Amino acid sequence: FLKGKTALITGSTSGIGLAYAKALAGEGANIVINGFGDADAVEKERAALEATSGGKALYSGHDLTKVDQIEAMMREAADAFGGVDILINNAGMQHVAPVEEFPLDKWDLIIALNLNAAFHTTRLAVPYMKEKKWGRIVQTASAHSLVASPFKSAYVTAKHGLAGFTKTVALELATFGVTANCISPGYVWTPLVENQIPDTMKARGLTRDQVINDVLLAGQPTKQFVTPEQVAATALFLCSDAAAQITGANLSVDGGWTAA
Ligand code: NAD
Repeated sequence: FLKGKTALITGSTSGIGLAYAKALAGEGANIVINGFGDADAVEKERAALEATSGGKALYSGHDLTKVDQIEAMMREAADAFGGVDILINNAGMQHVAPVEEFPLDKWDLIIALNLNAAFHTTRLAVPYMKEKKWGRIVQTASAHSLVASPFKSAYVTAKHGLAGFTKTVALELATFGVTANCISPGYVWTPLVENQIPDTMKARGLTRDQVINDVLLAGQPTKQFVTPEQVAATALFLCSDAAAQITGANLSVDGGWTAA
């Protein structure tokens, strides 16, 4: 149902972003993927997305902590496809440390990538969406856009900011056929989660199993990780006509975490 539409997904060489790209390609959209990774592996994913969609898939590997590189990515998408119809702001990173020891460079990077990048991609995509009177902006926020956890000050700050930004954009675009929503996953089993286990072990003095069961899944009532495919299916729904009246919402996909 997305034939002829173009979807740009930031941070889509891995994890949840790649699952979004596969789901949207499965509905025939042109795809712009972004993120870091081994060139051969990325090219393989790009070619597979193109084969799935029957349209085109473009890789734009810019570093989204830098404004000029975000602008370059958006220009590449516009040159290839005449704009972006579906924008998924998904690139994100995490760092776990007590606030008084939080490395300054990590704070700046997390705010730049998890929050500021979404502002820049949005401001550059919106003119095309307004002109077409159709658009979908989807953020991978997080349960941490609604509640906090200790030792994740930059991440929680950025995700709460992203949720507020999304509501504002939803109001501005409400009469233009453009929706803006957050999807807020609980713990999804991806490299981002796996990579924070060692730091959490250190910060809390726990074993790997204790971090998985007593920290990560402790607050997730289903006691299961969310899958990237479940998050992607939610985005696909938000892109459908059935979801045209859902805007400014923050949809939890968190196994009940934020219900507690
Ligand atoms: P991931 O580490 O598997 O993927 C992150 C992606 O972002 C990769 O493609 C990576 O190359 C890209 N990326 C990293 N730095 C970048 C930069 N500077 N510029 C451009 N791309 C960059 O992580 P994931 O778990 O799939 O996370 C995706 C999003 O989901 C993030 O915003 C994260 O905060 C959010 N999220 C994840 C979970 C979870 O449990 N995994 C839960 C809630 C929210």
